[in-house]
Amino acid sequence: MNYIPYGKQEINADDIEAVIAALGMPFITQGPTVTEFENLLAQKVCVDFGVATNSATSALHIACKALEVGPGDLVWTSAISFVASANCARYCGAEVDFVDIDPISFNMSTQDLEKKLFKAREEGRLPKVVIPVHLTGQVCDMEEIQRLSTEYGFKVIEDASHAIGATYQNEMVGNCRFSDITVFSFHPVKIITTGEGGMAMTNSQDLAARMARLRSHGITRDPSEMSKTPDGPWYYEQIELGNNYRMTDIQAALGISQLSRLDDFVSRRQKIAKRYEDLFEGTNVLLPVQDQKQLSAFHLFVIRIPSSQNAPDRKQVFERLRSNGVLVNLHYLPIYRHPYYERTGLYSPEDFPNAEKYYSEAISLPMFRVLKTPRSRKLFV
Ligand SMILES: *Cc1c(COP(=O)(O)O)cnc(C)c1O
Repeated sequence: MNYIPYGKQEINADDIEAVIAALGMPFITQGPTVTEFENLLAQKVCVDFGVATNSATSALHIACKALEVGPGDLVWTSAISFVASANCARYCGAEVDFVDIDPISFNMSTQDLEKKLFKAREEGRLPKVVIPVHLTGQVCDMEEIQRLSTEYGFKVIEDASHAIGATYQNEMVGNCRFSDITVFSFHPVKIITTGEGGMAMTNSQDLAARMARLRSHGITRDPSEMSKTPDGPWYYEQIELGNNYRMTDIQAALGISQLSRLDDFVSRRQKIAKRYEDLFEGTNVLLPVQDQKQLSAFHLFVIRIPSSQNAPDRKQVFERLRSNGVLVNLHYLPIYRHPYYERTGLYSPEDFPNAEKYYSEAISLPMFRVLKTPRSRKLFV
């Protein structure tokens, strides 16, 4: 049987040539090609700085650290996301809480966010950082989130792992107009890939410098940051505790080559989405609703099968697709349902009715650059 995965990279001859060329260069770890990739992506999305890392998870971690997240702090993210959106705060020793999703966009509900903030202020438990996630590639209501951040005094990290190439109010995601830091992922199922990799974008020179230091052990070579006078040109200081989160020049070469096809990747995904929409018109399959203020990057195409007496339910449709070689998926189990989070006893599913409903209905259909145009809906209905 021919299997169709839900996501898959496109590696072409140019990509391979770029990686081979990078292998012959003097640096194969972080070097000038990483800087070039950072500059090109920053230019592309109209932001001042990019800090490349070995994964989006690492980028989220150093983003939290640069914003001084630590023990005793609270970080809020969306109830429906990949666990990395929450884990980054746990790495810093902070406590995580979740905001329920909007039933239409599946993104963090700004109404629930506002209600939760209002209550948190009364209890003196406001979050230091909120991490909205652009689920499936559709951007959150960033203007409203920024308004709330000003009113309640929290910082914003956009988890744009699904949303490179998406636009919001006709501008590219990653420009940080409504946030402090935006993080992209280059995992192979995402829109462009470096094998593993991520990048944190920001307009703040301070945050960029801090994140660049944190991705490399907390070491500085800048005398103005040192507490002692260098006793020679070899001298450097570790001034805080960082990690080795560096991207390699080999990965950056692949990233640059992939980035040149970003627009093509996204427009192909949008065509496939349109095709799915046509296929399911008039069926009981619920289609994702697109917000008119923006263009989704369509990392995922999530349909929902509502439970019904006279039609197959979500699980039946899911199993039928899988047994026919269509390797559909479910993004995601609500984070608070993972045993690691569940056993804290801090969260109850009843607080997240929309996340629970989404989890009971959603299916992620295959969506990737080299997917053949879907022709039939017969496995679904
Ligand atoms: C993939 C993903 C991440 C983590 O990305 P990596 O590059 O694999 O570390 C974080 N958040 C979301 C929403 C993701 O989908």
